[in-house]
Amino acid sequence: MAENQNKSHCSKTALPDDGNKPADCISIAIPCYNEEKTLQVMYSTLCEITELMPDVKFEFIFVDDGSKDKTLEIIREIAAKDSRVKYVSFSRNFGKEAAMYAGMQKAEGDYVAIMDADLQDPPKMLIEMYRVIKEEGYDCAAARRVNRKGEPKIRSFFARQFYKIMRKLSNMEVVDGARDFRLMKREVVNAVLSVCEYNRFSKGIFSWVGFRTKWLEYENVKRVDGESKWSFWKLFLYSIDGIVAFSTAPLALSSLLGICFCIMAFLAIIFTIVRQLIWGGSAYGWPSLVCIILLLSGIQLFCIGILGQYLSKTYLETKKRPIFIVRDEEGGNNERDYERD
Ligand code: UDP
Ligand code: MG
Repeated sequence: MAENQNKSHCSKTALPDDGNKPADCISIAIPCYNEEKTLQVMYSTLCEITELMPDVKFEFIFVDDGSKDKTLEIIREIAAKDSRVKYVSFSRNFGKEAAMYAGMQKAEGDYVAIMDADLQDPPKMLIEMYRVIKEEGYDCAAARRVNRKGEPKIRSFFARQFYKIMRKLSNMEVVDGARDFRLMKREVVNAVLSVCEYNRFSKGIFSWVGFRTKWLEYENVKRVDGESKWSFWKLFLYSIDGIVAFSTAPLALSSLLGICFCIMAFLAIIFTIVRQLIWGGSAYGWPSLVCIILLLSGIQLFCIGILGQYLSKTYLETKKRPIFIVRDEEGGNNERDYERD
């Protein structure tokens, strides 16, 4: 089907077929962790898609995230037959976030797509995504599940709550049901790569870098084979990562608590004084003790909150995120390096 199509990979040195404008090239990055059962089906589906898009060149980047099964052997077999296939193999399991980053870094195409290996991200949507970017002026087309059929109810419930909390705490638009499946222009990929923090939460990063994104909806599909790698506990930790990476609100929480405690202490003090003045003798013993405890713990919490504010600023600085990201510009010096060392 796709035997040694040397001309069609995305190398920057590849010459245009007809001497005119070179064809667009789409790189598809596929994170794989223990996907021996799904890879062949995935690859055949990708080949079908490429046949439906004859004007576009493709490269497939398989990222083996330290798989313990035959994933790497299968990827090597596919790569030996098809020059469009590249791969990276991690020394151990670093997680899907790291795999996506590595895939984007290795991609050479004008457009980069991220796609799961289990066909849960319908590969055919790529055709529509490409059309949306080319014809409607978007920089990015992303997939969003409209339902969660086939997923445990409790998992869907917590996922929805997470998106709500995330939106409130981070002031960022993290769309409910958003997948990592998306097609991005080169500019978007470069911007995402410029956010090089270690604890990555891509859904937040995609939103943070901005650009015009069109959300394409689809119905949830079951995995073609194998099992999900995300246990409830892993998802819970990932959601905490997401909140901590994009919001410093939890650090301000103790200040808020401190203020509440101080207000309570003042009310209690007034209440105790008034009671003492009217009935007398009632301010001794535990009422005054409670007031003191409330006031002191309130002051302490408030001060911890102030420390938290400085810590949050330091935390944001250590991420070395770019100060801004340009979508379009003309004239002047526009050679800039996003890295801030
Ligand atoms: N994946 C990965 N590293 C991991 C876990 C998952 O590269 O540590 C890949 C996995 O092979 C798949 C994609 O990420 O291609 C999505 O994983 P999965 O299907 O298990 O997640 P779900 O669809 O259940 O959210
Ligand atoms: Mg999946």
